[in-house]
Amino acid sequence: MTIDSQTVFAPGRDARIAARSDVVVIGGGPAGFSAAIGAARNGASVTLVERYPYLGGLASGGMVLLLDDMCNGSEITIRGVCGELIERMKRYGLAIYPPEHEWGSSAESQRKWARWGAFDPNSKLRPHPICYAAAFDPDGWKRASDDMVLEAGVNLRLHSWFSSTIVEDGRATGVIVETKSGPEAIMGSVIVDTTGDLDVAASAGAPFTKGGYIVTTVFRLGGVNTELAEDFQQQEPEKYQEVDREIRRMLGGAWEYWWLKTPLPGVVWCNCPHVAGLDGTNVEDLTKLEFESRKRIHDVVEQARQTLPGFEDCYIVDLAPQSGVRQTRLLDGEYVVSKEDINNRIAFPDSIARGRDYYTPYRALLPRSVDQLIVAGRHYSATSAAQKISREIPPCMAMGEAAGVAAALALESGVTVRNVDVPKLQARLRAGGADPGDQPSSNATIIKEQA
Ligand SMILES: Cc1cc2nc3c(=O)[nH]c(=O)nc-3n(C[C@H](O)[C@H](O)[C@H](O)COP(=O)(O)OP(=O)(O)OC[C@H]3O[C@@H](n4cnc5c(N)ncnc54)[C@H](O)[C@@H]3O)c2cc1C
Repeated sequence: MTIDSQTVFAPGRDARIAARSDVVVIGGGPAGFSAAIGAARNGASVTLVERYPYLGGLASGGMVLLLDDMCNGSEITIRGVCGELIERMKRYGLAIYPPEHEWGSSAESQRKWARWGAFDPNSKLRPHPICYAAAFDPDGWKRASDDMVLEAGVNLRLHSWFSSTIVEDGRATGVIVETKSGPEAIMGSVIVDTTGDLDVAASAGAPFTKGGYIVTTVFRLGGVNTELAEDFQQQEPEKYQEVDREIRRMLGGAWEYWWLKTPLPGVVWCNCPHVAGLDGTNVEDLTKLEFESRKRIHDVVEQARQTLPGFEDCYIVDLAPQSGVRQTRLLDGEYVVSKEDINNRIAFPDSIARGRDYYTPYRALLPRSVDQLIVAGRHYSATSAAQKISREIPPCMAMGEAAGVAAALALESGVTVRNVDVPKLQARLRAGGADPGDQPSSNATIIKEQA
């Protein structure tokens, strides 16, 4: 090992080959979990690698406890693995969503469901209509996803930090992960990057752009009398606004509904405080986030106890163990989705996943320069502005499922992932219960030819 003033050179860090499989998925968040299930159910052997001790990424560790962006009016546009996970959590009593007959704008539905976050924030109507969206518990996610990966026969390796990609002749063939036992290599025929920050594709030399957005430490409060708080908001809206405005000022940024109900009685989740100008791939910035957030949260809890009816006896249940990073590196892939594509609801011929009313082309999962590598999730190939409006958990799961099925299909057909037969992929996704967007809704703008 040699050392100069800037760098420690550590060549020859040999890595034992710890696993080999057809498909290796790095990152066990919503996209990675769905990719692993999609590939395994389509006949591939799969290794799923995750740095933390649980699956779920921002959904469980980041405590982002609402699955939304799944409705085009009254049409449900995301099903597949996402829908299955919701139903499992619901069976445990750890997920809740409004039944169809309660969707819409009636005062009764609003009163019953708005504080669960089950409304369509993209609707021009005010108040936003109630729609299909699921509030869930983070441990419910961990339990349901554990069961699903076991049932699918996925080889799950937790406590493994990805550190570099193995590329041979322009083709990704494996990854190195750091573990308590030292570096390990995991080899595969197809590598799927679902780290959210494009760690694997960036390490492989794939082109990317650097985006950024507000960063948040989510927290949960217990001991909240939610009924009392909701009554106060209903009956004394001006007073509520005054109290609420001061709390949001102290948070230094929060959505209008900064607290939402969860399946645990008396426990609310708080999607705040927002901190701007930080880079989610920078250790100094992430450390600053934790300190700044904790300070603001403790101040706000004191304020809520004193001023917000229903919160008099509230206490902190937990602060999310995982930093709420929404956007960092974005793939500059074979197609880059634009904000206009999303807003104009462009239905691409190679659509393989949907959000509320927009469509994701398969090309947006493919790096331009590295073979046998697919990406899925919040770092997919989109402009920063487009990603901000298309990065919710369900569309990331839909993309993940498509990536996993594409990997398995490529291996089965003896072609590279770049040359997968997309109509076959769409048919396979549909057969597995997903909606690839190959049958666009009536409000889509249909593109017949691939650019
Ligand atoms: C505060 C906040 C509020 C949000 N609100 C909502 C909302 O209300 N509803 C909604 O649907 N979406 C919401 N989102 C967006 C949503 O949470 C994310 O876009 C979504 O979780 C992205 O899924 P993903 O699988 O692409 O990435 P992630 O959830 O980030 O998962 C990435 C996974 O990869 C793992 N990983 C990363 N790097 C490595 C490495 N080097 N080695 C090994 N493993 C690694 C991580 O630990 C994680 O498990 C919110 C996001 C934030 C931050």
